[in-house]
Amino acid sequence: MFKRVALIGLGLIGASLAHVMRRENLARHIAGHAKTGATRNRAMELGLCHTTHETAAAAAAGADLIVLCVPVSACGPLAREIASSLAPGAIVTDVGSVKQAVIRDVAPHIPDGVDFVPGHPIAGTEYSGPDAGFADLFHNRWCILTPPEGCNSKAVERLRALWAACGAQVDLMTPEHHDLVLAITSHLPHLIAYNIVTTAADLEQVTSSEVIKYSAGGFRDFTRIAASDPVMWRDVFLNNREAVLEMLGRFSEDLSALQRAIRWGDGEKLFQLFNRAREIRRGIIAAGQDTATPDFGRPH
Ligand code: NAP
Repeated sequence: MFKRVALIGLGLIGASLAHVMRRENLARHIAGHAKTGATRNRAMELGLCHTTHETAAAAAAGADLIVLCVPVSACGPLAREIASSLAPGAIVTDVGSVKQAVIRDVAPHIPDGVDFVPGHPIAGTEYSGPDAGFADLFHNRWCILTPPEGCNSKAVERLRALWAACGAQVDLMTPEHHDLVLAITSHLPHLIAYNIVTTAADLEQVTSSEVIKYSAGGFRDFTRIAASDPVMWRDVFLNNREAVLEMLGRFSEDLSALQRAIRWGDGEKLFQLFNRAREIRRGIIAAGQDTATPDFGRPH
C-alpha cells in the first residue's frame, strides 16, 4: 500500500500501527523515530521498524506516508523539523486526540505538493511505550479523519483504505465537531477519573489501604482510566480547552441536579436517570464496542 512509512513516535499507537502494518503487509519499509535512543532500540528489538533514525527528518526523508504518533504538543515542532525532508506527493497524517490544535500547529509547515490528512483512531489502553503496542488495537474500532477544506480527496481515500486494512471503520467529520464529541466521550471521562482517584487518595477519614482494599466497588474502574499517560493527557487538556470547559459546564449542572435529587429524596428521578444510563451501556455492547462479560471479563 505504501513504499516507505515513517512512524514518528513509537509508543502505544505508533507500535500498534507498526505491528498491524507488518502483519498485513501495508508498507515495504517502516522507518521509525522516537525521542529517546532507548525507545528506538526497543523498537528494533521488537521488530517494529526496518530502520530507526536519530532525527525525525531522516525517518521522513523519501517516505510516501508520515504518521505523527506523538503527544499533541509535539506535533507542530516535529512538522517544522521534517518539512524540508518531505517528498512531493507524500501524505502526512497524525493520530492526536485533539484535531483543531494539531491542524493549527502542523498545517503551516506542510509544503506545496504534500497532503496533510489529520486523523484520530478511537482506540487505546492505559499503557504507553513501544511494548504496549499490539496488532489488533484498531480492530473493530473507529478512526476519525478530519480533512481540512480543500484537502486532496485521493489522499483521504488512501488513508481511509489504510485504516480499513488495520481493521478500523472510518468516519469523516470536521475538526470542530471531532473536538466536541471527544470532549464528552473521552476527555471528560479521563478528567473525572483523574479527579476521583486523587480525591479518594486525599480523604483523611478513609485510609489509603481501605481505598485499595475495597476498590472493586467501582473505584477500580476509574483507576484504570487514571493510569493513562500523564504527558499525553496534559497535552489534551491544554489543547482542547474550549470544548472541555463547555462539556464540564454541562456536566456540573447535571451533577448539581443529581445532588438535589439525593438531597430531596427524589427516588423516581434517580431511578429514571440510572435506567437511562444502563440503556446506553447496553447500546455500547450491542455495537460491539465493549464486552458483555461481567466485570469487563476480569477473572474472579
Ligand atoms: P506513548 O505511548 O506515550 O508514546 C509517545 C511516543 O512519542 C514515544 O515513542 C515518544 O518517544 C515519542 N515522542 C514524544 N515526544 C517526542 C518528540 N518531541 N520527538 C520525537 N518523539 C517523541 O503515546 P501514545 O499513547 O502512543 O500516544 C501518541 C498520540 O496518540 C498522542 O497524540 C495521543 O493523543 C494519541 N492517541 C492516544 C491514544 C491512547 O489511548 N493512548 C488513543 C488515540 C490517540 P520516547 O519513548 O523516546 O519518549
